[in-house]
Amino acid sequence: MRDRLVLVINGGSSSIKLALRKQGSSEPVFEAQAERLNTPQASYSYAGGDSHSLPDADTKAALNALLPLVEQHSNGPISVVGHRVVHGGEQFTGARLIDDEVLAGIEANAPLAPLHNPANLSGIRAAMALLPDIPQVAVFDTAFHQSMPPHAFRYALPDELYAVHGVRRYGFHGTSHQYVANQASLLTGRKDGKGAWLSAHLGNGCSSCAILDGKSMDTSMGLTPLEGLVMGTRSGDVDPNLHAHLARTLGWDLPRIEQLLNRESGLLGLSGLSNDMRELEQARANGHGGAQLAIEVFCYRLARSLAGLAIALPHIDGLIFTGGIGENSALTRALTLSHLGVMGLRVDPDRNSALARGEAGRIEATGSPAILVIPTDEERQIAEESLTLLDREPTRTESPA
Ligand code: ADP
Repeated sequence: MRDRLVLVINGGSSSIKLALRKQGSSEPVFEAQAERLNTPQASYSYAGGDSHSLPDADTKAALNALLPLVEQHSNGPISVVGHRVVHGGEQFTGARLIDDEVLAGIEANAPLAPLHNPANLSGIRAAMALLPDIPQVAVFDTAFHQSMPPHAFRYALPDELYAVHGVRRYGFHGTSHQYVANQASLLTGRKDGKGAWLSAHLGNGCSSCAILDGKSMDTSMGLTPLEGLVMGTRSGDVDPNLHAHLARTLGWDLPRIEQLLNRESGLLGLSGLSNDMRELEQARANGHGGAQLAIEVFCYRLARSLAGLAIALPHIDGLIFTGGIGENSALTRALTLSHLGVMGLRVDPDRNSALARGEAGRIEATGSPAILVIPTDEERQIAEESLTLLDREPTRTESPA
């Protein structure tokens, strides 16, 4: 049962990513992806190989081209395919073996994630058609947050909107928050995922989370991934009346406002320069006022969110930074922590700046709760959850030995 192989598939609207993972390993065995699907420029590439054009390929055609490459690089059979699925609504509180009921559930949740769930489904359907004998598992971005209590997940709106239309806070990035909280427990010598953690996943999308003994208690994202923190191009929280204000004063319609809040705001909107933190740090160092403001707002709002989430925990064992920005930007970590002294969190500046890229480490000053930088690995989490499920429900998935 050791060293089993898992194929992790992340199907997007115009791309599909594959990672072959070995049980318990932190490094992928093989990675490949196809991009610009359903266009004449569609192509696929893989680690250690060139890009190949695959004009007008859809998800299934792309998988058909990529699977033989996966086979070439695997030295054994694949035990399970693990699919990343963005929205599981209230129906899915954990990973599930994919059957007709699960497929219908993912479809039923598509109105909550209209760009993502249908794309995830095409990846699942293509993989089921091409690998019919291998069990397939869906791992949901929202499932981890289903442990949130109603006082954290309900909006102050009339009950019918929740009860009939599912309008509530769901949260996303669950796979990442779960993974780093578990790693934090291991790194601080705790057992069984115990501990009270705040985590900040800071990539192009950003979210924060309060986790108690491996369960999400509250998180910053809501009905959609727009709520909460300042992100690369997303605004995060704004006055909910902004829509009406823009409609009244500027005559903007909903698509225009959605474009503004999702694609033109955040670090990009504030800086007027870029959504990329590396570029903004460079520009700030060269005296660019917009870049400086964008980074300051990003860090202040993150600190405010973390301080708010702290009330969901009985105490704080530590704060975790992850995602491209959290793992690599010592400046973001330092500025955020400069606002969190009230919680007793204090950074050691030397440890903070000395941490090597891609390395996990602790950066707190003496006397502070732990402050950890942990590279996230959502694919590994998906692989491990898929194997765990396979072990729990073997009769439905594997022939008896
Ligand atoms: P995604 O959410 O798309 O997976 P990532 O987790 O890769 O994104 O995060 C992308 C962000 O991380 C970008 O804003 C990028 O500038 C930032 N980032 C990556 N490396 C560094 C670095 N060395 N210093 C500062 N920011 C970095």
